[in-house]
Amino acid sequence: MVQTATPPAERPRTILVVEDEPSLAALLRETLGDAGFRVALLDDGSEVADWVRAHGPDAVLLDLGLPGKDGLAVCHEIRAFSTVPLIMVTGRIEEMDRLRGLEIGADDYICKPFVPKEVAARVRALLRRSIEWRDAQPGSPLSLDEAGMAARWNGVRLDLTPVEFRLLRALGQRPGRVFSRAQLLDAIYSDDHVVNDRTVDSHIKNLRRKIAEACPGADPLTSIYGVGYKFVLPD
Ligand code: CA
Repeated sequence: MVQTATPPAERPRTILVVEDEPSLAALLRETLGDAGFRVALLDDGSEVADWVRAHGPDAVLLDLGLPGKDGLAVCHEIRAFSTVPLIMVTGRIEEMDRLRGLEIGADDYICKPFVPKEVAARVRALLRRSIEWRDAQPGSPLSLDEAGMAARWNGVRLDLTPVEFRLLRALGQRPGRVFSRAQLLDAIYSDDHVVNDRTVDSHIKNLRRKIAEACPGADPLTSIYGVGYKFVLPD
């Protein structure tokens, strides 16, 4: 007997829309609802982080100008504990470059006025990119996207080279373990590169700088004199 496999019904994705202008919020709810999403609405910035923590939405559409707490602060707050796909909505086109420069951890930006259907398309595209962020270790501020060779520190994306990514992954997945430079070279190069131990030191130096830039004060890479390096989880 031939059985026809029916694909499992896809779970409806929940999109949190944070928008304080009622007509715009209603429009987004309708458009995203028509596109097959479940929509939750909030209109005050101060409630957002707790809501995200409690409900774990699949994506967040976050207005920049909000009562209670502005979108920038809300984004920082969310990124401290979550890598949920996030689109920032701003009222001014010239604000978008400034926001990108701040590296606040938004995945995309949309400027008002927008075509609602385009918003739905951007949300869909963002979900399709299916960024699978995994914590390097439980409780670690480091999350990794293996497929995209990307890393985030407390939700803020680190701009890493492939070698830096592999180095950080090797160290970050085993906090507290000391790696020799030779072991780290094995982890970051698959072939017989002509490199020496100093190569590791210079990549570590760049990693430290990039993590500190993304999260001032963070310094998880500790050098062990005469041996190598280890990754230390913050207290
Ligand atoms: Ca607003």
